[in-house]
Formats: sequence, structure tokens, C-alpha cells
Amino acid sequence: MSLVRILAIGDTHDHPQDYAPDLLPEADLCIVTGDLTEDGARGERAGSGEMDRARGWLASLAERYPVYWIAGNHDMEVRNDTFGVIPNCTAIEGVTLTLDALPATLHGINLSPCFNAPMLKRVWDKMTDSRDVDAAAFDAIPPVDILVSHCPPEGCADASPRGIPLGSPGLRAYIERHRPRLVLCGHIHERGGQYAWLPKTPSKPGAPQTLVVNVACTPTLIAISFADPSYPVRIETNKLGRNTS
Ligand SMILES: [Zn+2]
Repeated sequence: MSLVRILAIGDTHDHPQDYAPDLLPEADLCIVTGDLTEDGARGERAGSGEMDRARGWLASLAERYPVYWIAGNHDMEVRNDTFGVIPNCTAIEGVTLTLDALPATLHGINLSPCFNAPMLKRVWDKMTDSRDVDAAAFDAIPPVDILVSHCPPEGCADASPRGIPLGSPGLRAYIERHRPRLVLCGHIHERGGQYAWLPKTPSKPGAPQTLVVNVACTPTLIAISFADPSYPVRIETNKLGRNTS
């Protein structure tokens, strides 16, 4: 059984110095779940310099690990080609990849619901107040082993400080339908470090479950075997170590 170590990081929000590669553990690959910046290109136009810092951070990570990343709702106007070519670094928004070295399939999606606060979609990028749009976006994703989503699934590591679920019902339905091995997300900072298995109660012993990990502000190292699907995906280290399951 060959174990793969995945380092996942999200919601660094223009604090690259707190997530510098020499502060991070060894891993076989690194996945970034979005919100690298506070205001993306909008901030850059105001002279923030944060786009250069985000690109520099991705490049520094990519000197140590193969990096796969998506933007988040704060990364205004950031698209897959925004940072140009960074060696060993791949933008995966809307992209399905087969990682031959694992082997495993990977897909990235950046769409965050704001059903309870529709005004947010006018302020931030890649948000929707439409349940139909949310459902259709996740319906269109093929079955994969690892799904990278900026927002969590509804009802799982997604509660606001007041306990309101802010995650995506479309993602929750995708997980229940396709049972990916791993879903990596962020977005809800207060739930960074939380993880859970879905469905919470397997239909029968040994039925596949998906490990969902919210890595917002919490670099997390995950061990997984794709060669042996019966290997329980395991969290090796994370900053806070909270378990919601
Ligand atoms: Zn964020």
C-alpha cells in the first residue's frame, strides 16, 4: 500500500509569510483551496500588491511540492491563467485532471452560495444566491477521487458563528451521489481545522465514505492510499485538530 501525503491549505488572505514553505510539512503534493488574497485584482488596482505576493507564494510552494490551486470568492477576477505560467503549479478551476503518479482524479470548483445574503454576490467573486445555479454547477462535475471546492458542503464544517449552515447543497448532493475519497474546502474560517465523514452513517458496513476537510487558515496533512481504497483516509496533522464527526 503506497500512501500519498497531501498538504491542503486555504484562506491565507494575503498573509503568505504565515504559510511559507519552510513552515510547512513534507508532502507529495499541495492543494490550495482559494482566497489567497483579500481583494485580488481589485486590491491590486488600489495598490495593495497582493497579487504579486500571491503569485510569489504559489511559486515558492511549487519549488517544494507539485501545487494545484483554485481561487476563492475574495480572489477578485482571478482566473486559471491570471498568474501566467508557474512551473510545477496548476490552476484547476473547472478542470478535471488525472494525477498519474497517485493515480487519482482531481477536480476544482470555486462557487460559494450566499442564499441568505444575496448582496454578497455583488461584492465578491464566484458567488450565487440561486440554488439552481449551485445544483447545476456540481451536477456538471464528473466523479473524481479528490474534489477541491472553495466552499464546504451544506451541514458539514460550514456553520457560521451563529450556527447557520453556509455550505453548498449542490456539493452535499455530489458527495452523496459520487462518494469521492476526499473533499478539500475552506471559506468558513471559523470551521478551519474541522473534518467529518459523509455520509455520517454508512448504509452498510464498509460502504464508502468521503472525508471532508475544511482547511481554512489551517494547513492540514492528509494521508491517503489510492492503490488501496479500503485504507482509511487519515488526517496526520492540522493546526487545531478539531473533529466534528
Ligand atoms: Zn476566506
